[in-house]
Amino acid sequence: MPDPTPSDEAVIEISKLSTSFGDHVVHSGIDLEVRRGEIFALIGGSGSGKSTLLREMILLHRPDAGSIRVLGVDLQALDGGDANGETLALRQRWGVMFQHGGLFGSLTVQENVGLPLREHTGLDDALIDEIAASKLAMTGLEPKVGAQYPSELSGGMLKRASLARALALDPELVFLDEPTAGLDPESAGEVDQLVRKLRDLFGLTIVMITHDLDLLWQLADRVAVLAEGTVQGIGSMSELAQMDNPAIRKFFDGPRG
Ligand code: ADP
Ligand code: MG
Repeated sequence: MPDPTPSDEAVIEISKLSTSFGDHVVHSGIDLEVRRGEIFALIGGSGSGKSTLLREMILLHRPDAGSIRVLGVDLQALDGGDANGETLALRQRWGVMFQHGGLFGSLTVQENVGLPLREHTGLDDALIDEIAASKLAMTGLEPKVGAQYPSELSGGMLKRASLARALALDPELVFLDEPTAGLDPESAGEVDQLVRKLRDLFGLTIVMITHDLDLLWQLADRVAVLAEGTVQGIGSMSELAQMDNPAIRKFFDGPRG
């Protein structure tokens, strides 16, 4: 079993990153590091640039300046395009659960989970089905759910199914954008347990965006607070709770956005 204790090895290193959309500056000098085996959370108000930062970590958006290394690869140095072998190889080492699930409505749940395997491996259909079924089981979904379509699933089941898809290629690193948003407390608690299991049992490194204080207090090893284009503080929730930076205090005291 992998050692669940986070190590000092950086799996993501971001330095002096800046991003603008037209005149709108979203990031102006972001520095942070994610270590192997930790659950790392990004928090910040609505529009603070969390999702954009996540998209930059997974090659869906290019920052204007600065550097991002993920799993030892300098993303700026990749020449883009999925035809590039190094890019393809890197994409297989992470899994992503998008905020709105991102499952294709025209495919069954099991077909959705099998899709990354179909795209990235030469495995035959029978084996792909078998692996997809095992990933569904890993996230606690019954086998019969595999034959259903996304529109037939509850919010909690959809989150599990998209997590199963994120795990299809046995990634080292998993990105979760708002994994418990829109769920009732019970389903949110189940997703909590699932995320914990991914770290503790499978030794995955997890980067998540969330507003869910329960999830943050219970699971996050370290949390980075984003505001005004920069990281205002990084630490455990108890460390952040002691900081007197107003942007951080707002998160603990005031309404959340
Ligand atoms: P968060 O996830 O923290 O709510 P986002 O990263 O989604 O914030 O967005 C940060 C800011 O950048 C917002 O003001 C948003 O409107 C803007 N933004 C994000 N993506 C784009 C885009 N593709 N084009 C223009 N503006 C964008
Ligand atoms: Mg967002």
